[in-house]
Amino acid sequence: MASNDIVVLGISNLSIHARFRAGVIGLTTAMLLSQDPENHVTVAAKHMPGDYDIEYTSPWAGANYLPVGQENHLIGQWEKATWPHLRELAQNCPEAGIHFQACKYRELSSDELNPEIDNANSFTSVCINTALYLPWLVGQCRKNGVVFKRAIVDHISKAADLHHSGKKANVVVNCTGLSARSLGGVMDTTLMPARGQIVVVRNDPGLMATISGTDDGDDEATYIMTRASGGGTILGGSYQKNNWDPNPDPNLAIRIMKRCIELCPGLVGEGQGIEALSIIRHGVGLRPLRESGPRIEKQKFDDFWVVHNYGHAGYGYQTSYGSAADAVALVNQALQHAKRAKL
Ligand code: FAD
Repeated sequence: MASNDIVVLGISNLSIHARFRAGVIGLTTAMLLSQDPENHVTVAAKHMPGDYDIEYTSPWAGANYLPVGQENHLIGQWEKATWPHLRELAQNCPEAGIHFQACKYRELSSDELNPEIDNANSFTSVCINTALYLPWLVGQCRKNGVVFKRAIVDHISKAADLHHSGKKANVVVNCTGLSARSLGGVMDTTLMPARGQIVVVRNDPGLMATISGTDDGDDEATYIMTRASGGGTILGGSYQKNNWDPNPDPNLAIRIMKRCIELCPGLVGEGQGIEALSIIRHGVGLRPLRESGPRIEKQKFDDFWVVHNYGHAGYGYQTSYGSAADAVALVNQALQHAKRAKL
C-alpha cells in the first residue's frame, strides 16, 4: 500500500510524500495536511519566513481581514471559512501575532465625516503581524512532523523528487504564488502582479482605516493598519496591475503618507505633516493576481498528482484557511487515486 508522501512547493507539507512552497498559502495548507498523522509532508521553498524579496509576497502584506468576495462565490466562502480561525487566534493565541483592532460596528454619522465622504462604516477586524504569524505557522507544521527544505525547482515534476523520505512524492501541492507564471509544467500566463507599495512607520493611530478611491489615480489606494505586538503601522498603498518594479517609488511614497494623514490625522500630532512620521522602512510586494480567481484544482502528471493552490491576489491571508481546506480535500482525492493505481 502506498504511503501518503506529499511535497508542498511554497510553504506547506503533508504526511503523504508531498511538497509545498513557503508563503501563507503553502504554510496553511501544510499545517492542515500535517494534522492527519497519516500524511508525511515536506515543504520546499526558495524563500522562507524571515526573507524579504520581491518574489515572496507574504511578508509584505498588512495584513488584515476585509472581505471582498461575494457570499455565493468561492472567495466569499473561503473568507467566511477563514474568519473563525483568525478570530480564535486573536482571542486565544497571542504567540500567533494577530490582534483585534478596536472599532465599533456602526454606521458613522454625517457629522463624523469629512464633507467629501458620502458614507462610512466602522467595525472590528483583525490585523496580522506577518513577521510573527509566518514563523508561527512554520512552528505548527514542525510540531506535526513537517520537514522544511530550501530548494528552487524549474519544473513542477522536480518537486516530486524532494520528499524527505527519498521516495517520490505521490502529490505535489503547488503554492508558488506569482512564480507559477514561470514554473515549468505550469506556466500560467493568466497570472500578473498587482504591485503594492507600503510605508511602515512607528506612529500608532490606534485604529485601522481605509477609503475607496483616491484623487491620485485608479491604481492607488489608501489604508492604514497597525500590526500586533510592536509590528509597526502599515501605510498603503497601490494596486498597479502588470507593474513588476521592485523598488519603492519615492513620489508614490509621499502621496501615500499624505493621503494617510488626511484620512487619519491622529497618525501625527495636531497640525503636523509627513515629517512627523517615523519611518521603519519602505516596501513593495507583488500580489499574485488571476482575473479569473485563484486556481485550486488537481492535475495528473505521469506518476504523481499536483494540487494547485495559487493566485490569491490581495486576499491570501483572509482566504487562507478556506482555500487550504479545499486543497486538502483535493489532495485526499489524489491520494486515493494514487493508492488505487498502486494496489
Ligand atoms: P508567496 O508568499 O509569494 O509564496 C510563494 C512561495 O513559493 C515562496 O516561498 C517562494 O519562495 C516559493 N516559490 C515560488 N517559486 C518557487 C520555485 N520555483 N522553487 C521553489 N520555491 C518557489 N492579503 C490579505 O488577506 N490581507 C491583506 O491585508 C493583504 N494585504 C496585502 C498588502 C500588500 C502590499 C500585498 C503585496 C499583498 C497583500 N495581501 C493581503 C495579499 C497576500 O499577501 C497574498 O495573497 C499572499 O501572500 C500570497 O501568498 P502565496 O503563499 O500564494 O505566495
